[in-house]
Amino acid sequence: MDVEIMTIGDELLYGQVVDTNSAFMGQQLGRLGLRVRQITSVSDRADELVAALDQARARVRVILMTGGLGPTKDDLTKHVLARYLGRALELHPPTLAHVEEIFRRFNRPMLDVNRQQALVPAGCQVLPNAVGTAPGMWLEDGETVFISLPGVPFEMKKLMSDEVLPRLQTKFKLAPIEHVVIMTAGLGESFLAEKIQDWEAALPANIKLAYLPSLGSVRLRLTGAPDGLPELRPRMLALLPELRARIGSYIFAEEDTPLEVVLGRLLLEKNYHLGTAESCTGGAVAQRLTSVPGCSAYFRGSIVAYDNDLKMSLLGVQADTLAAHGAVSEATVREMAEGARARLGCEVALATSGIAGPGGGTPDKPVGTTCIAVSTPAGTVSKLFVVDRGRATNIEYTSQVVLQQLWQQLKGAAE
Ligand code: ATP
Repeated sequence: MDVEIMTIGDELLYGQVVDTNSAFMGQQLGRLGLRVRQITSVSDRADELVAALDQARARVRVILMTGGLGPTKDDLTKHVLARYLGRALELHPPTLAHVEEIFRRFNRPMLDVNRQQALVPAGCQVLPNAVGTAPGMWLEDGETVFISLPGVPFEMKKLMSDEVLPRLQTKFKLAPIEHVVIMTAGLGESFLAEKIQDWEAALPANIKLAYLPSLGSVRLRLTGAPDGLPELRPRMLALLPELRARIGSYIFAEEDTPLEVVLGRLLLEKNYHLGTAESCTGGAVAQRLTSVPGCSAYFRGSIVAYDNDLKMSLLGVQADTLAAHGAVSEATVREMAEGARARLGCEVALATSGIAGPGGGTPDKPVGTTCIAVSTPAGTVSKLFVVDRGRATNIEYTSQVVLQQLWQQLKGAAE
């Protein structure tokens, strides 16, 4: 069953708003086994919306729209859709009562434009919007289903989960697609592909593999389309031992989970506490670690020591080390990590120091030269690498590499 997602609003075309609605809707529809054929963004002009509807209708059976349902003049979706399908707008009393209740609660006067939120095209099924004033609408015309949802992301998401997805599932008697996600770190996409090419080539026809790379990590996603046979998911999971045999040492999770969550679990398991000593990452590593709920059980804190004086006074880095090797050196990050372990009272600490750029590089140490260290009761490991992709990305990449190193050491110790 093919779907077209249509996002409506000039702000999307001008780049003032990034279209995150489509990404969410695409993921949700894919899980149900619906194929998104096309995503179209349309302006707030009635003629252009009509043209887009004509084209979409020729392509797909379900057109899922967001945006343009508000009370202002540029919100045209409902009016255009009603005209397009030759339906009059009618008052929907339960929606009017809901809108009035919202205005009462906020103690605001209600304008006529707000009352118009309760007008819907004749014959439409109203999808009640518990968290906003604009209702969603489900209209069937011939073979085509037109669904219109508000543009505000949290309203759209609630309507998708509560109303749209269950209705699509019932109407089209859908068998859901299965996904199995494997998270890897430490090996680039093409190297991974090479290591698993025989495994990938032998996948059954209804199971497809996607490589989804992000900085320093690659998510492998197996998508299984229903093939009429029972137990699709167990059959997909049965493929994993062979995958592990090829790239097991790079797999940090067999679910869609960030590295920092996996690290938290490992630290808890080993009853270790963690601290960070950060120079070039300026707290970015600590930020990732503290994004995990419950991290206070294992994360003790961070020292951001940008200046050499602070590397010495707060972390105990030796002046001789700095003089002999410089701030961006394996010798310095090792002392930073070991100092953080002692001074933050942690069994485990990590450290970063690098030239994030764009200035500050030298012939010896060009921009992107970065050192990381991880210190555990089993010893301290350090690394130097030179990768320059711009300041922000250098910081993000260093955070990823040092967390990856920590994972390898904790996992190695666990094994
Ligand atoms: P409301 O009735 O609340 O005004 P609406 O249906 O009129 O909702 P729009 O006015 O089109 O929605 O958009 C409201 C806001 O929702 C936009 O300003 C934007 O911040 C956000 N938004 C709209 N479309 C998208 C989209 N495709 N992706 C992400 N955000 C969006």
